[in-house]
Amino acid sequence: MTKVPVSFEFFPPRTPAGVTKLKDARSALARLRPEFFSVTFGAGGSTQDLTLETVLESRDETHIDSAPHISCIGFDRERLSAVLHRYQEVGIERLVALRGDLPSGMTGFGELRYARDLVQFIREQTGDAFTIHVAGYPETHPQARSANDDIDNFASKISAGANSGITQYFYNPDAYFRFVEACDARGVNAPIVPGIMPITNYTQLKRFSDMCGAELPRWIETRLRDFGDDIESIRAFGIDVTTRLCESLVNGGAPAFHFYTMNQHQASIAVCENLGLGQ
Ligand code: FAD
Repeated sequence: MTKVPVSFEFFPPRTPAGVTKLKDARSALARLRPEFFSVTFGAGGSTQDLTLETVLESRDETHIDSAPHISCIGFDRERLSAVLHRYQEVGIERLVALRGDLPSGMTGFGELRYARDLVQFIREQTGDAFTIHVAGYPETHPQARSANDDIDNFASKISAGANSGITQYFYNPDAYFRFVEACDARGVNAPIVPGIMPITNYTQLKRFSDMCGAELPRWIETRLRDFGDDIESIRAFGIDVTTRLCESLVNGGAPAFHFYTMNQHQASIAVCENLGLGQ
């Protein structure tokens, strides 16, 4: 199978146990020599300092390029500019740029309404200082006016200066292939990297999928429900399903994989080993 680069996404831990768990996951995943690690950002600024702290720790410990996610919702230009300049000062070279979602109870979109505006702002403020990744939705973002509008929106983020897309996770490879075809038809020639969510836990996956609009196919859901508390069977099934998904994607031309690790390493490593990726 074609060898493609991988990247791994983490979230900033909030407890001492979470910090230890992330360190373990990161050092295990670093052995696969990923292209980069990325660290999520609590939209509205709730984890801004933790995100940077986690990125710097990751870079210092592993010497692997580490990228903060940055979101514009709830921020004004001045505050965003300060964040960008701080990132430049500490030598960050890559960003995942998002609109984000307002945390419940928070109001006010901020001065930049969409991720496209954020990408444009980053380019205006910092030129080519950062490689910028943006989000794409093979199954359509839940707030989009239509699937076509959402693809136009993705294309507009690339035209505004983003270097590549990372998709929301999905379990139907055709959704990805159709999305890539539709982007091609709009002249997008930036790489579109599938986001991969290894299956490890039914309840959590169901909750996330409901929240972000990713489809959990019925055949996967019923199998997972049948396993009940049998963690080992869920794990084995999840690794198998995720490996086969990645095989189809690579065979269909996917240029890389971005794993949503949930700060765990076992499933991502098992899938990468099955695919012969990493060292
Ligand atoms: P946008 O690209 O701005 O799109 C948002 C919605 O607006 C879409 O429905 C789009 O079709 C619509 N839209 C765009 N332009 C217009 C327009 N002019 N008129 C009308 N509608 C329009 N969230 C976090 O909070 N922190 C993270 O760290 C984080 N990391 C992520 C990483 C990846 C790889 C992905 C795929 C998602 C991530 N998210 C994160 C979730 C993301 O913030 C949400 O999905 C959010 O709702 C949309 O962000 P976006 O950047 O895709 O927004």
